[in-house]
Formats: sequence, C-alpha cells, structure tokens
Amino acid sequence: MEVIIAKHAGFCFGVKRALQLVEEERKDRQGEVATLGEVIHNPQVVEKLSQAGVKQVGSPEEMKTGTLIISCHGVGPGVKEEAEKAGLEVVDATCPFVARAQELVSLLAREGYEIIIFGDRGHREVTGLEGYGEGRARIVDDIAEVEQLPFCRKLGMVVQTTREIERYQDLLARLGGKCQELRAFNTICEATLKRQKAAVELAGDVDLMLVVGGRNSANTRRLAKVCAETGAEVRHIETAEEISPEWLKGHDRIGITAGASTPQWIIDEVAERLRAKK
Ligand code: SF4
Repeated sequence: MEVIIAKHAGFCFGVKRALQLVEEERKDRQGEVATLGEVIHNPQVVEKLSQAGVKQVGSPEEMKTGTLIISCHGVGPGVKEEAEKAGLEVVDATCPFVARAQELVSLLAREGYEIIIFGDRGHREVTGLEGYGEGRARIVDDIAEVEQLPFCRKLGMVVQTTREIERYQDLLARLGGKCQELRAFNTICEATLKRQKAAVELAGDVDLMLVVGGRNSANTRRLAKVCAETGAEVRHIETAEEISPEWLKGHDRIGITAGASTPQWIIDEVAERLRAKK
C-alpha cells in the first residue's frame, strides 16, 4: 500500500504561534493560566494542555486572577479590555490573519458600508468579526442567503479565513446585483488556500483520502468537503485508532491530509498505522 501525505497539511503558522504562547505562559507564569474557549480546535491537543495545567474558560468572568489567553480565532472588541479591567493578565494569541479581517470590518463600518461576513454562523472567529461591524454586519453562511438581502448603496464583505475560495468567488458574483458599490476583501488565509489546493490535487490521485483533524475544526471539515467534491472516497478521522480495515480493502493508494489544527504526531500515527497494514 502506498501512503501519500499532502504537500501542505497540519499545523499552520497561526496555530503554532498560539500554542507557543500558551506553552510559554504556562512555563513562565505563576497562578492560573486559562484559554478563552479552545485555543485551537483539536481535542487531543486541548487534552494535553489540560493535563499540563492549562484550563479552559467560556468567559473572563469565570476567572478571578491569573492569565487569560485569547485563542487564535480572536474575540469581539472590548473582551480583552474587560478582562484587563477585571485584573487578569491577558495574552492575545489571535492569528494575525484574523486580526487583519477584524481591522477590515472596522474600516468598512467606519466608512458607512453595510457588511457581509461570509462564514460559519456560531464559529468563534465569525462571531468576533461581527462584533467589529458596529451593528452594520450580518453573517452569510450559505450563498442561497444572498436572495434575502435587501438592496443597499454601499456593501462591504470579508470572509472567514478558512472558507473555500470558490464559494467566495460565487458569492462575490451574486453580491454585485445587491448594491451600487461593492468593496470585498479576500481574507481567506494562505494556509487555508494551500491546504485545500494540495488536498484536492491529492484526492484526484488516490483510492481513498483520509482527512485528519478535530470534528469541531471548521478548516478540517472543509478539507473533507473539498476532497469529497472531487468524487473521491473520503473519511474524516481524529486519530489513527479510528481507521477501519474495511475502508482499506481493495485500495492501493491512500492519501492523507490534515487540518491546520492537527499536530504532526497525529498525522505520523495515521501514516504509520496505514503502512503497518500493508
Ligand atoms: S488557518 Fe489561517 S487564519 Fe487560522 S490560525 Fe491558521 S494561519 Fe491563522
């Protein structure tokens, strides 16, 4: 059996940076260290952090003292300041690509645009971005929702950093008919673009594609989706233990890709498990 790992897979720059900040804080700080929500969407990494003493809180009010780390997905305006006012040390691990999208939403709001945020409703990054819109932003999760939008004079758009470029382009084409002026920013990050492109290329060349990463990870689920759209057989797994021998029957070439929040050790375990089956 041949096992091929996609050219771009696993941890991205923003995730590595966030985890490094968490590890440094845990090592250097006295007292409680907690992340606001999951610092990255990978249950195995979150479990390891918890074993190392890094707690997870749903809001700053859940902490009395200590260090609060903002996840790479970012938060809405004011959250950091509120936590600081409450006496917490705040470490901001927001990915710089998410921070750029936040700045662009602020800019569009200041310049009087109605704002579309193309992203997953309820996702932490998207909820945070909406907060920067000063009441002018609305989330569009699915292209079909464009039909419900009222016509307006000035319309601005940003997109969740992990969305698919093709959907963004489709949406862009449709929004033109909904306003007099359209100002759109492609805020999909390079890591997402590279992982999706490499995954699609590989999916077309193997018998089975394994997509490795948290089931709660938006970018991993999207990798599975773009691979499935090529017509490939696709399985989304979190760990090597989930691989069923049934899936491998009659397959000689297996491809592996992994979300931006999937650590290398999990990718390696999946590859080793497959190679051991030959
Ligand atoms: S996927 Fe992109 S936006 Fe998200 S953390 Fe990684 S580099 Fe940053």
